[in-house]
Amino acid sequence: MRGHASTWQYGTIESSECPCDSSRGFIAGRAKFRPSTSSSTASFIRCACVATGRRTKAFAQKNGAWIAARLRRLPQAAPFAPGATLPLRGEPHRIEHRPSARGTVWAEAGEDGAHMLCVAGDRAHLARRVGDYLKRAAKHDLQASCRRYAADLGVTVKRVSVRDQTSRWGSCSSTGVLSFSWRLILAPPFVLDYLAAHEVAHLIEMNHSRRFWRLLLRACPATHRAKVWLNVHGADLHRYGEPQLD
Ligand SMILES: [Zn+2]
Repeated sequence: MRGHASTWQYGTIESSECPCDSSRGFIAGRAKFRPSTSSSTASFIRCACVATGRRTKAFAQKNGAWIAARLRRLPQAAPFAPGATLPLRGEPHRIEHRPSARGTVWAEAGEDGAHMLCVAGDRAHLARRVGDYLKRAAKHDLQASCRRYAADLGVTVKRVSVRDQTSRWGSCSSTGVLSFSWRLILAPPFVLDYLAAHEVAHLIEMNHSRRFWRLLLRACPATHRAKVWLNVHGADLHRYGEPQLD
């Protein structure tokens, strides 16, 4: 989705009060804050704000205690680890470590009918392998979905790229390259399809005009349902795996 997010700036502040154990962000006035766990020694939060870096820092310093209180109420991060559950195409999957099995990562149904995501190899590589698998699956599904909508709308997609972007679910460059967040593979397929349709429709209308929404609704009747789903559950998808800022 095209928007104002690309103009946001990031600032970093130290805060000893801040537990920073979640990768989910929240909006405070005009400032958006995202906690990060990438520093092992000090907890810190990064602030993204439409204002200048200096203003962001001043805001965060002045409101440090309030920010820390808000962070404590955020849902816990869910790193990829044996026994952890993550949604794959909207269905909960439990991560199962199979150190001596051949292969890398594959989905399997357990005896109780529950979905499992099995991971072979060393424990040390498990999180990376799960992350790589999800990115590959996201790219596969997004490419297929983009191709389908491009054929419907009579346009050509130059390339589909999948990244760990946190500020937007998708974007469309003027050169015809469509980029998406890999986290869409965690959402139900109709949500991923909506994002694919949205970005493909931008190849015709590079704006959010009425014409754009009419075109999109014709191509993807689930547009409204998908937007509601993202509003309610979208932020939760950022809990999974290693938190990253873009
Ligand atoms: Zn858009």
